[in-house]
Amino acid sequence: MKAIAVRPGTPNSMHLREVDEPAVEDVPDGRGVLVEVLRVGVDGTDKEIHAAEYGDAPDGDDFLITGHESLGRVLEVGDDVPSHIAPGTIVVATVRRPGMSLFDVIGLQDMTTDDVYFERGINKRHGYLCERYVEDWRYITPLPSCLSETGVLLEPLTVAEKAINQAFEIQRRLKVWEPRRAAVLGSGTVGLLATLVLRLRGIEVTCFSLPRPPYRNSELIEEIGGTYLSTQDTDIKDHGDFDMVIECTGFSPLVWEGAQILAKNGVLVLVSVTGGERTVEIPSDVINQAFVLGNKVMVGSVNAAPDDFARGRDDLVKAYAFYPGWLEQLLTTPVEGLENHEQMIRELTGNTEAIKVYVQVAPRAGASSNGAAAVAAGA
Ligand code: BGC
Ligand code: ZN
Repeated sequence: MKAIAVRPGTPNSMHLREVDEPAVEDVPDGRGVLVEVLRVGVDGTDKEIHAAEYGDAPDGDDFLITGHESLGRVLEVGDDVPSHIAPGTIVVATVRRPGMSLFDVIGLQDMTTDDVYFERGINKRHGYLCERYVEDWRYITPLPSCLSETGVLLEPLTVAEKAINQAFEIQRRLKVWEPRRAAVLGSGTVGLLATLVLRLRGIEVTCFSLPRPPYRNSELIEEIGGTYLSTQDTDIKDHGDFDMVIECTGFSPLVWEGAQILAKNGVLVLVSVTGGERTVEIPSDVINQAFVLGNKVMVGSVNAAPDDFARGRDDLVKAYAFYPGWLEQLLTTPVEGLENHEQMIRELTGNTEAIKVYVQVAPRAGASSNGAAAVAAGA
């Protein structure tokens, strides 16, 4: 079958290749689930993998099949797979697989303390940009069929879910913490999805981002009742007293601005993976003093736990009910078929207006062999 892969260590090596067909029996003890890939989203991590700045091949291979934001349909299941995952079920597979630390052993590989971690499509495990994959049912989240298109947003949503769920977990220390105001720094996919999760929890959200409104992302924030502010028109530091701040701009100096707008007892969650070596001068006495006197917390958050996938799925369903049509608008930039991997890279690296670039791997429902025609017709 066909797959999109890179040769880790070689920049700009994204290519199409023929790889072995997976089979249900590849997973032991009847736990295998064979999945037809419907669509796969791509993000900044894939950009870094393509640039050979990040990611590694599985041991014994000199290539890595990329793609970690999956959406698929079950084709076949092993004898020991529970009945809620059956042929036809729409599914999303998680990204990280257990390593050796105690956290991995209890199913919290997102909290691993190992130096080497295993992530499908990213590090040492092949990903989902291929026609079919097989996975242990324990790493698969079943979705209702209403998510058979927008379900591709579940993996990036879980990054926001984990960040917010971690904030609530940490804040149980406060016994009566009820966040009313949150700031989201950044209006990319994760910023938009973090705003969604917070709005679904009834929290007031101000999203700070560079571009001046109105434009698509600012309108999406406002459609779900958030406030959008451009950092070209306002200084983040002039705003304040947020119970929660989620930093997802990818620009690390903003962490310190986020730290300065936290309310007493507030929590700042960092989710940007910043591969560079940027340095910046900060008012460290002021920040430190406010953290100490205000019992504030700053915490990092990566990947997501099984619970975050379950809550993320529930929030996607809720989003349908509360904000019909909103999720669909995030799926701005389809690429039809694995063959168009060059277009995928172009959109990912050059299309600054795209929110979510995704590859439509399987032909669209009701489409002829010419999927692009169906898209043009608004399918
Ligand atoms: C993925 C996460 C992953 C992280 C670090 C992100 O793009 O969505 O699942 O843990 O990269 O590799
Ligand atoms: Zn990602």
